[in-house]
Amino acid sequence: MRHTGNMVMCENDGVPFLHLPSFTEQKWLNHAFSTRLGGVSTGIYSSMNLGFGRGDSDDNVLENYRRFCAAAGFDIHNLVATAQTHKTEILRVGEAERGAGIIKSKPWHDIDGLITNEKNVALCVYSADCVPLLFADTVHHAIGVAHAGWRGTVAEIAAVTVGAMQREFGTQPSELLVGIGPSIGPCCFEVDTPVAKQFLDCPEISENCMVKKENGKWMIDLWEANAQILRNAGVQKIEKGEFCTRCNPDTLWSHRATDGKRGGACGILCIQEAAE
Ligand SMILES: [Zn+2]
Repeated sequence: MRHTGNMVMCENDGVPFLHLPSFTEQKWLNHAFSTRLGGVSTGIYSSMNLGFGRGDSDDNVLENYRRFCAAAGFDIHNLVATAQTHKTEILRVGEAERGAGIIKSKPWHDIDGLITNEKNVALCVYSADCVPLLFADTVHHAIGVAHAGWRGTVAEIAAVTVGAMQREFGTQPSELLVGIGPSIGPCCFEVDTPVAKQFLDCPEISENCMVKKENGKWMIDLWEANAQILRNAGVQKIEKGEFCTRCNPDTLWSHRATDGKRGGACGILCIQEAAE
């Protein structure tokens, strides 16, 4: 099985980027996911590496951000990046944090999700097999991003992000649109029993997200696991990009496909028009 997904591949000035159709419909938003194409990095980072601190030169990563932002319609000065460590801390950011983690240093640690209701604050989420989640409150015009690897998934970061938006912005889960970006699919995410047990132990995830193989390993559907957690939290509108990183290592960054010798992808979500 090969997932090429239902995401839309766009291109501008030789720089490809991916859109989720349901987010493109939200004219108050701009969003995009990077691929591994269209950048200036070389070697194992070739070429659109948007991950700082992976061994690539910071100059190359910055130039990649400039190119990606120019192509996908973002201002690099508005980007705010997280400091992801597979936990579930969600941070509310605003105008004062613009640039943090990209053109300025990051003043925080252990942040796997960002939320805002301010215009022109572009939230970044990194991934390379892990699941990037985008959240849009279509009534209050608030947004969020979250990083859900398998640890974040079983720790229910998807529901924690919904809760943070409820608390901060009065978001009703039924008014949320959630997008699941490029990440490792059910076709490729194989785990050993100790990891599978964590999924079995998570009350919000049902066993139909998992298949036990004859070799004793398990295949896990991280997309559906996150979707179940979201539905149990009251979210009704969920769009799965279904674009598997591991199946498409020429187009997307995959940690497993490269044995960790790789660059990083970034998903960006930004409010371009504030609520009336
Ligand atoms: Zn796959």
